[in-house]
Amino acid sequence: MTAVDLAEIFKSRVSDSEQVSLLIDIVSASEEGILCWSIDPPIDTRLPPPEQLQALREGMQVSYCNQSYARLMDYPGPEDIIGRNVIEFLGELNVDAKLQEMVENDYRLERIRFPFKDSGGNTRLTSVTTHALLQDQMLIGIWNTVLDATRQSEQESEAEIIRELLSDSQELARIGSWSEDFRTGRRAQSRQLHILMGLPPRPEPYDWTDFLEKIHPDDRARVAKGRERTRSSGDTSTMDFRVVEPDGSLRYFHTVVRSTLDKDGQPLHWLGTMQEITEQVKLREQLQEMVEARTHALSEEIELRKRDAAILKRQAVVVSQISEAVIVWNLDLKISDWNDGATKVFGYSREEVMDLGPAFLRPRQPLAPSKREELLDWIEDNDGWQGELPYQHKDGHEVICEASLTALRDSRGNIISFVEVVRDATERKAYEHKLADAKEEAEQANVAKSHFIRGLSHELRTPLNAILGFAQLMERLSGTPLDSQQQDYLDHIQAGGVHLLGLVNEVLDLAKIESGEIDLKLEAVDCKALAEEVLQLVAPQAEERRITPALEVRTERSIHGDYMRLKQVLLNLLTNGIKYNSNGGGLYLSFADSDSKRVRIMVTDTGPGIDPGRYDELFEPFNRLGVTDATVEGTGLGLPITASLVEAMAGTMGVDSQPGEGSSFWVDLPAAEN
Ligand code: ADP
Repeated sequence: MTAVDLAEIFKSRVSDSEQVSLLIDIVSASEEGILCWSIDPPIDTRLPPPEQLQALREGMQVSYCNQSYARLMDYPGPEDIIGRNVIEFLGELNVDAKLQEMVENDYRLERIRFPFKDSGGNTRLTSVTTHALLQDQMLIGIWNTVLDATRQSEQESEAEIIRELLSDSQELARIGSWSEDFRTGRRAQSRQLHILMGLPPRPEPYDWTDFLEKIHPDDRARVAKGRERTRSSGDTSTMDFRVVEPDGSLRYFHTVVRSTLDKDGQPLHWLGTMQEITEQVKLREQLQEMVEARTHALSEEIELRKRDAAILKRQAVVVSQISEAVIVWNLDLKISDWNDGATKVFGYSREEVMDLGPAFLRPRQPLAPSKREELLDWIEDNDGWQGELPYQHKDGHEVICEASLTALRDSRGNIISFVEVVRDATERKAYEHKLADAKEEAEQANVAKSHFIRGLSHELRTPLNAILGFAQLMERLSGTPLDSQQQDYLDHIQAGGVHLLGLVNEVLDLAKIESGEIDLKLEAVDCKALAEEVLQLVAPQAEERRITPALEVRTERSIHGDYMRLKQVLLNLLTNGIKYNSNGGGLYLSFADSDSKRVRIMVTDTGPGIDPGRYDELFEPFNRLGVTDATVEGTGLGLPITASLVEAMAGTMGVDSQPGEGSSFWVDLPAAEN
């Protein structure tokens, strides 16, 4: 057999001749190009490939081709091709490599690119599937199915474009996808899926566990469970989960999975998409925060408005009820409220003045509306105004008023109106005049009193000194000694005289202090030195009563005062502490810090004490609180003088007493600055 006859081939495989001609008809009518080569002489397929290749190049003839192939290669018909050496039809492009590939694959190729020459001698790229026609391991022919690869490559590049488009859009939309066929076990994962899950992209699919590891630990169990459920559900389900980045930040994903079951309800196939929704989630969170903040702000605003309304309501009630004149001005300086008090002061009714400016009330000092801004600024800085202004009553007479103007603000601090409270000052002014007159009168009377007392003291002292002088002379007259009764009378005269002289001196002293006529020499007085001197002075008197005064100085400071007068103060208090004490009683003098600026002197005794209800009487001149014991000398002027001196030295004094146990007199005086 030199050429492969198609009919022979079919006949060798199909017995029925009718079927053979049918097959031939099918092949010749096929849309695909069919080209059959016969190999002469046949090639032993057991030979080494290079030898087979050599033989191929020499003995290949076209033994059959159909109309589709002729058309594909631009020949008028199969008869122009059949019978010619195959080599004539093979294009130059890589032909040897292609033939070698064929030999190495036992002449069985599927859809490979193969170059054929068309009638014009141009190489055409085709897609060829080859089959070996064998007889006892001898290759007698090759059967080729030829398709125009130009079209196919167009389709392929279209598919490539679509693939790229899909990949790009997945990247853009941050979507990854995967699928799995349970029959074939074939799994596919998009490149974007790997990128999104933070896995290095690769052609082979990753295992499910690789993905699971990337999922937030808290979401893993839920996602795994949802996945299993969907796999056998034959349904579509969605799930959200989080992925933790190495830096700890979170990314959010939304996944949709759809599974298909076969007719027995067994899982056939499933596919899923996974979209990153981090931005959406963040946006949603931000939006939620914004909504919450706005809601919060709105409810606060509502609260504020409610409060403002309540303030205004309360203000209206206050304005109407307050007995003083209250005028409320709006921001245009027009009257917006006017109470009964204002009607009483100015004579106008509320209806008469509403919406009027200030000119009618203060014709002499109207406040022009142009001054409004100035007024606002002024109020802003000074928080209000207070003063006296002349107003005009409805009947034309002038009313001098004390006025105060304050701004009324809403809850946000914005001024909403001005409130003017006005009081008729006529009566007060009259009262003030009267008071000033009375004060002057009293001052004059005081001066007169001082004059009188000083004059009186002088008048009294001269004869008193004469009485005492003569009494002394009388005592010393040795020529005529006094008998015991005369001596007794003389003692009385002398004692009375001394007492009276002391009294006159003290009255004079008190009068001088009270009228501010004493000169104080203020200096730093050392507490210890002062105490020691005074204690020395009272020592004889104390000894007489078997009293030993104790001293405690617990301050480092000095007193800012007049040394002589301080001595007088302490002498008075210590003398009282001895006089109004039991024989052998206790007497304590102490100095301590009263506060950061004052020193406290305290004189404490263990005498009979003073009834707290009578403390005030202690400082009344001549009040001796009913001392009846004639042996206790006194005038009732010591404490009033002491109090006046302390006051003159900017100090204060007081007393604490426990009747039956003793008294403590304290004096607080300014400390000297170091
Ligand atoms: P005088 O001692 O000359 O009577 P004072 O003005 O010093 O006058 O005192 C007024 C009165 O206050 C005293 O008469 C006495 O009744 C009472 N008094 C003063 N100091 C004490 C004291 N330490 N304890 C009890 N009573 C006192």
